[in-house]
Amino acid sequence: MDIILIGAQGSGKGTQADTLSQALGIAHVASGDLFRKAFDEKTELGLKAKAYIDRGELVPDELTVAMVLSRLGEPDCKQGVLLDGFPRTIAQAQALDNGLQGSGRQIDVAIYLKVPREELLKRLSGRYICRAYQHVYNINTRPPKVPGVCDIDGSELYQRSDDVGEAVERRLDIFFNETIQLLDYYSRQHKLVEVNGDQSIDAVQKDLLNKIQNRG
Ligand SMILES: [Zn+2]
Repeated sequence: MDIILIGAQGSGKGTQADTLSQALGIAHVASGDLFRKAFDEKTELGLKAKAYIDRGELVPDELTVAMVLSRLGEPDCKQGVLLDGFPRTIAQAQALDNGLQGSGRQIDVAIYLKVPREELLKRLSGRYICRAYQHVYNINTRPPKVPGVCDIDGSELYQRSDDVGEAVERRLDIFFNETIQLLDYYSRQHKLVEVNGDQSIDAVQKDLLNKIQNRG
């Protein structure tokens, strides 16, 4: 089963993707990890992508899709894959569909982890990260035992500049503008499943599994 998980920054997407992929016995492929791995291993596609990034240009969708397809060919993806962070745009979704067709696979379900904008803002603006290992805290929902200090390693907690003020608003604007089109794309293919992300981590996980197993 090949699944796409769509959710804004702060939606809890990464956490849910980890648990869900384990529960379903499929590989969790996050686009960020995919790029990092390809750069580290200096694969042909990775080097091509890096050349664009080094020039300050966007990596073309065809190249990203080629990287995704190459990853899907690895043994741990045989049972299926949960794609996290890709596709982001309708053009990427189309390129992915075209690429998958050639390998005899298809996206079976696209899940939208829906969290209201106000809640995302609250979560993101409360986010603090530790300097040593980037452990994540939230002053509203998951505060450290001692303010400003990581529970695990004692290092200082700080806020990323793109988690503050207007930067957050801009990221959310981009997400919502692009995502509405993406949702429409998968909805027309009858593959879209919406899950309420504005509840506890366990409740979201339960909903996710229920909806995937009982769909159509
Ligand atoms: Zn830490």
